[in-house]
Amino acid sequence: VEQTLILVKPDGVARGLSGEILRRIEAKGYSVTGLRMFTPDRELLAAHYAEHEGKPFYEPLIEFMSSGPVVAIRAEGHRVIEGFRSLAGTTDPTGAAPGTIRGDLGRDWGLKVQQNLVHGSDSTESAERELSLWFA
Ligand code: ATP
Repeated sequence: VEQTLILVKPDGVARGLSGEILRRIEAKGYSVTGLRMFTPDRELLAAHYAEHEGKPFYEPLIEFMSSGPVVAIRAEGHRVIEGFRSLAGTTDPTGAAPGTIRGDLGRDWGLKVQQNLVHGSDSTESAERELSLWFA
């Protein structure tokens, strides 16, 4: 059965939305099989976001993601990777469809798309890689 890594980013935790986001994952029918809450260090984030190294938003993104606790979730179910990305909505919360996590709960707080509440792995390869980082 497929697994994915979901993160409630520091903005989601700070706004008290971890429970609501977990609720939506479970209400969709996926199983939560792992749960950790901690403030990630730069080393973990550099590995997680390796593909973005050198981009203009990379440093601010690492700063933001290490600014406070995140909730790391291992979720399981047939096609959970695609299913969670659909639940999350598009990267930019301003235009994300109502009904999605980002569309219902997110907005632009002045940094475009940085604070978009959640992360979800985008392929089986990245899910495997990311789960080994966050659930080492
Ligand atoms: P995620 O992988 O987090 O679900 P995504 O696949 O929709 O998001 P990516 O393009 O992989 O988005 O970017 C990773 C994260 O980096 C985004 O979720 C967002 O927090 C941040 N980000 C991406 N582009 C920008 C940008 N132009 N300015 C600021 N932050 C950005």
